[in-house]
Amino acid sequence: MSELKSEAQRCLKCKIPSCAKGCPVQTPIPQVFNLFLEGKIREAGELLFNNNPLSAVTSIVCPHDRNCKGHCILGKKGQPVEFYKVEKYISGFYLETYQPPAIQKNGKKVAVVGAGPAGITMSIILAQKGYSVTLFDAMDSIGGTLRYGIPEFRLPKSILDQYKKILDALDVKFRPNTRIGTNIQTEDMFLDGYEAIFLCTGTGRPNRLGLLGETLGHVHFAIDYLKSPEGYRLGKKVAIVGAGNVAIDAARTAIRRSHSEVTILNYKGAEDMTADKSELEMAIIDGVKMLHHSQVVRIADDTVKCVKVEKSIAKNGAVTFTEDYQAAFEVPADSVIIAIGQGPGADVANVGSASVTQRGLLQVDEFGQTSQKGVFAAGDIVTGPKTVIEAVAFAKKAAAKIEEYCSSNTAQC
Ligand SMILES: Cc1cc2nc3c(=O)[nH]c(=O)nc-3n(C[C@H](O)[C@H](O)[C@H](O)COP(=O)(O)OP(=O)(O)OC[C@H]3O[C@@H](n4cnc5c(N)ncnc54)[C@H](O)[C@@H]3O)c2cc1C
Repeated sequence: MSELKSEAQRCLKCKIPSCAKGCPVQTPIPQVFNLFLEGKIREAGELLFNNNPLSAVTSIVCPHDRNCKGHCILGKKGQPVEFYKVEKYISGFYLETYQPPAIQKNGKKVAVVGAGPAGITMSIILAQKGYSVTLFDAMDSIGGTLRYGIPEFRLPKSILDQYKKILDALDVKFRPNTRIGTNIQTEDMFLDGYEAIFLCTGTGRPNRLGLLGETLGHVHFAIDYLKSPEGYRLGKKVAIVGAGNVAIDAARTAIRRSHSEVTILNYKGAEDMTADKSELEMAIIDGVKMLHHSQVVRIADDTVKCVKVEKSIAKNGAVTFTEDYQAAFEVPADSVIIAIGQGPGADVANVGSASVTQRGLLQVDEFGQTSQKGVFAAGDIVTGPKTVIEAVAFAKKAAAKIEEYCSSNTAQC
């Protein structure tokens, strides 16, 4: 605890805090530190929760080096303040002791489709304001990627069970195992009296390589594997194709669960990997091997066939990568896990009549309004794969818009 206090004391409490500017939800960091140092932990927790209901999660999984920590003024010459460590403690305390506020129901019903970070944020905000919220999800529990993507060793699932208790306390009705767009559409929901519908179904469809071998029995997509790694027998050698955070999570999970030799096949160089530096360092500590400049060309029964990739930098600084088909090599693999990005599920187009982009993402204005009246959207289904805190920030904006819509639309509601 004293460590947390000294971290709070190190903060300069800048008048215009750049840490808050670097945070997608502008967390009021100096105020939280002040309350914490004054012994007002509940008030500090409340301030955090009301600004970002998922602060207990984002304090753990945010890319802090890019956000608050990366913007701390002390980091220019020395050690930046690590606010998230204090935030984690305060938010954890707040969740454990959460008491719902007195809520006056306003008689308005809103449907939230998708129980990931965007959906949980929306449900908490609207339920606290008196809306009757029904939260639908295709899976059996809340959390979205927090539960079925990010591994337990990075984010304990017990936190999500605490959020379920909070949603229950706020009287949010949860409909698990309900995939909207199959037998329920937005029109059915409007007929049942929902005044607004919020779509936040994420990007749960893995991208494919489009190569021979992708349907073989030992080949898996990372986001499918991460849903239930206990169901997979990977064997001794595992090759992971991809260089982002999802590839790293799959690699670190495989090395823990299967005691396998795990090798990441990265198209570009070490310096070009899109994964967060800190995650990459942890993967190397865990024993994950990296094979850079490797382009997969085919997956066979027990090997991955690759060719070397050459990186060249032109005089004007332009970087190009070229496959050298003369430099072929094979990587032995009992299993192959593909982690080359995600897109929206096919059912998005069947949910209602909202317009989608060429990538199949929902098209919205800056406040999350889709082209379909009364239908709003935010999170990865709009932006493509991003981060938890960005999904929260967008959901907050959409919540304000939904409130405005419901109050100006009383005649039709
Ligand atoms: C493996 C992995 C690791 C990650 N690690 C991090 C990290 O460390 N830090 C970070 O900030 N971000 C991380 N991210 C990204 C982050 O998880 C996402 O940006 C965030 O979860 C997006 O939130 P969302 O609410 O938009 O969607 P999601 O979390 O994807 O939730 C969407 C929900 O909608 C449900 N759904 C889908 N279709 C339907 C339908 N038709 N009907 C009903 N329900 C439906 C899904 O079951 C899911 O529960 C990671 C992502 C992955 C895949």
